[in-house]
Amino acid sequence: MILKTINSREVLPIYRFAEERPALKKQLTRSVAFDPAVQSAVDEILQRVLHHGDSAVLDYTEQFQGVRLSEMKVSPDAIEEAYRQADPGFVTVLREAYSNILRFHEHEVEKSFFYESEGGVLLGQRVTAMQKALLYVPGGKASYPSSLLMNAAPAKVAGVKEIFMTTPCDPSGEVSPHILAAAAVAGIDSVYKLGGAQAVAAFAYGTETVPKVDIITGPGNKYVALAKKQVFGHVAIDSIAGPSEVVVIADASANPEFIVLDLFAQAEHDPDASAVLITPSEALAEAVRRCAEERLPSMLRKDIIASALKENGAIVVVDSLEEACTVSDMIAPEHLELHVEHPWDILPLIHHAGAIFMGGYSCETIGDYYAGPNHTLPTNGTARFFSPLSVRDFIKHTSIIAYSKQQLLGCGEKIAAFADHEGLQAHAEAVRARLRTL
Ligand code: NAD
Repeated sequence: MILKTINSREVLPIYRFAEERPALKKQLTRSVAFDPAVQSAVDEILQRVLHHGDSAVLDYTEQFQGVRLSEMKVSPDAIEEAYRQADPGFVTVLREAYSNILRFHEHEVEKSFFYESEGGVLLGQRVTAMQKALLYVPGGKASYPSSLLMNAAPAKVAGVKEIFMTTPCDPSGEVSPHILAAAAVAGIDSVYKLGGAQAVAAFAYGTETVPKVDIITGPGNKYVALAKKQVFGHVAIDSIAGPSEVVVIADASANPEFIVLDLFAQAEHDPDASAVLITPSEALAEAVRRCAEERLPSMLRKDIIASALKENGAIVVVDSLEEACTVSDMIAPEHLELHVEHPWDILPLIHHAGAIFMGGYSCETIGDYYAGPNHTLPTNGTARFFSPLSVRDFIKHTSIIAYSKQQLLGCGEKIAAFADHEGLQAHAEAVRARLRTL
């Protein structure tokens, strides 16, 4: 058993929790406190887009995407063409996955309610969908048609009137045909070619050509996540879904190769992604470390995987599965996989995670693409209070209050007296004026 210190730069170093507790706590818990350089870059982008609109959006697109766009929107013909040209097998799995995702989200639908309170007063809450939503689909280091489906389904089920989607274009000004095929499958109203904080700003504030929306959802890198946080209030947002994270809790029964590939699957997203194994088995810890070393050189995205694992990867050896759950709760990971013999037994010990995958065969990839629950999940420890993207994000509630003359007569003076105690004369008079007519 090799135990490394917290300062090790090795891919997937092994730590013993009992010996490294304070340092590990610091390293493993991520926060939404973005680094000051990212903060100032995003602030500048937001301000420039707010004040200069389209020209700022086009300048930043040129800077980050390497192309001066003459048109920010993808034409409906290009979407149709991408769909027709797409590999039929890919279209079939897109359709099947979308149908699974829709079916899951239909369970989340909330209904309006009305009830008669004392004296027959009618009270209620009306549920309505947001009118305009922007789905941000990341597209810098990889293209994510799966994220498009995951964001579109709850918006559609909620009944959002106009659904816009944006993703960064490539240096020739094109959007991945896979994304466009997915946009056709999901019936997106308009597709834009913008990415990063400038896209978030454009749809939050509106520009000459980009519509202001009511909500911006979807994952993205640290620039996108911070931009969403900053525009909250101008628009609604879902949650801070930043660079991806996985925690695997495993016992000696687990398959080391499954674990390594699941850790890599997370790490290949982004050098800022994080992947952590927590296990009471020293033998498994060592087997996973060795397997990771063996498999890494053959991975296409080995550079991204290696840098993510070096910065944010770890194997943590704990005393028991109970302690593993405590460490996992401390991280509050976006994804949590339970590669243990009896996953349902430890489920009650877990309080914070965006999505939990039960047993070694429920790998996160299934949830990313196909199962149905949303893959846009809270990151950076925010699973303590945020939830997966859902239909609830795209709806809002309006209270309904209906009193008749007789019902007001029954309680009006009490209400006016309440207002008197707050010293709000007009409030009291608004009731008494009505009482005088009865
Ligand atoms: P992205 O679309 O999020 O970001 C690309 C944009 O970042 C660029 O267009 C550019 O505008 C901006 N940018 C890059 N460098 C910048 C800089 N120095 N200054 C200002 N802006 C800059 O695509 P990405 O980079 O590939 O990141 C995708 C992210 O989404 C990854 O972190 C991945 O883990 C995450 N993800 C999360 C989930 C989830 O559910 N949480 C799902 C899929 C992907």
